[in-house]
Amino acid sequence: MTDFEYIVIGNGLFGSATTRYLSQRSKDVAVIGPDEPKDERTHDGVYASHYDERRLVRAIGRSVIRSKIGQWAMDNYRMLEERSGIPFYEPIGCLIVNSDRVEDNNLESPREIARTLNIPHTYYGEGDPSWREHFPYFEFPDTHWIIHEPAPAGLIDPRAMLRAQNVIAQQQGATIIPEIVVDVAENRDRVQIETRTGKRYRARKAIVTVGAFTNCFNLFPDKLPCYAETEIIVLGQVSPSEATRLRGMPALVYTIDDPVLRDIYMAPPVRYGDGNFYIKMGANTPGDYNPNSLAEIQDWFRHGNSDAYLADMERVLRTILPDVDFLSFQTKRCILTRTPNKYPIIDQVTERTYVATGAHGSGAKSSDAIGRMVAELAMDGRWPRGIPRDLFRVKK
Ligand SMILES: Cc1cc2nc3c(=O)[nH]c(=O)nc-3n(C[C@H](O)[C@H](O)[C@H](O)COP(=O)(O)OP(=O)(O)OC[C@H]3O[C@@H](n4cnc5c(N)ncnc54)[C@H](O)[C@@H]3O)c2cc1C
Repeated sequence: MTDFEYIVIGNGLFGSATTRYLSQRSKDVAVIGPDEPKDERTHDGVYASHYDERRLVRAIGRSVIRSKIGQWAMDNYRMLEERSGIPFYEPIGCLIVNSDRVEDNNLESPREIARTLNIPHTYYGEGDPSWREHFPYFEFPDTHWIIHEPAPAGLIDPRAMLRAQNVIAQQQGATIIPEIVVDVAENRDRVQIETRTGKRYRARKAIVTVGAFTNCFNLFPDKLPCYAETEIIVLGQVSPSEATRLRGMPALVYTIDDPVLRDIYMAPPVRYGDGNFYIKMGANTPGDYNPNSLAEIQDWFRHGNSDAYLADMERVLRTILPDVDFLSFQTKRCILTRTPNKYPIIDQVTERTYVATGAHGSGAKSSDAIGRMVAELAMDGRWPRGIPRDLFRVKK
């Protein structure tokens, strides 16, 4: 049995940030979580939301409160890169393309958020074609208005950011244990944690950051009100010269008016692990569903039909980028965590356990701030001023 002051369960984007913040003040911190699977189709463990090359970053989020949290996180990217020596951030800007006639995913209007928080941006109203001079490769209907949010909006590499958080946490003395936790029990002065290989750890407090797997193991006395949701992305391959031609293209969030797909997001050409350049596009589809158990999530990653909407994804990608010469298309299976009120859960669950999860497909950019919020809550019950506590509580 190994004893720590704090154990973070889940070494993903929230967990790695939480570990860094805890280890700033305690020399006795561990994070327990496995590495990324080598082969998703034969993998027998847990998966994660951050297995990709890029995540979009923008200060104009889905609400003022979520935007503030995102901004706190963005303020730290350069510091994280410098302290870890690991680059992960490209402030290339982001376009938000929306229409007042299409139902969107926002809690508040992006224009109102930008105004309220004084976020620098350029607005192109419905029917104003002047955006085309700046972003000639894109095509959007003139029923939509466009906000260009310049740097610091852009992209992060989520795997590299995680590595950066881990490197700094280790410099601060944190221990990384690559295991899956299956059981958390609490007695008067300790949390007892058991892993799948039968190892046991103890901590004064545990912080659970396991994303879509929050309700899959015996981590809490009751199930928490969050749920996993399948998500599909398409990667459109382009040649290196096409990638060079498109240099300067910003990230894109697009409330599309389409009979099949909703809530488009896109990253410009990026070189992936196989050496090829891909434009990534994600969307919500009518086939998205909510796997309830570990077995159901594993089944999605091993056998899920991510090609069910490939033709629609290809059609939409070609409509948004009509002049781009795509070489091929492939889809990937992904997973998100949602909560009923569209705010992450950041809360104390029992006397000694805390949780941070559920960011509706936009938690990567804010993960550093979410890690700080749950770490401070666990260390000294602190909550940031100006952020309504109730929005983030475990509600049944
Ligand atoms: C396709 C897609 C696109 C996205 N795009 C964006 C974007 O553009 N911008 C953005 O900001 N966000 C985006 N997101 C969301 C973002 O990736 C997530 O919000 C973020 O990864 C959540 O972090 P997390 O730490 O809660 O979960 P995860 O990143 O999933 O990490 C959870 C970790 O817990 C571990 N774990 C699970 N169970 C256990 C266990 N029992 N014991 C130990 N460890 C365990 C897993 O191995 C994993 O490492 C996107 C997500 C998806 C799927």
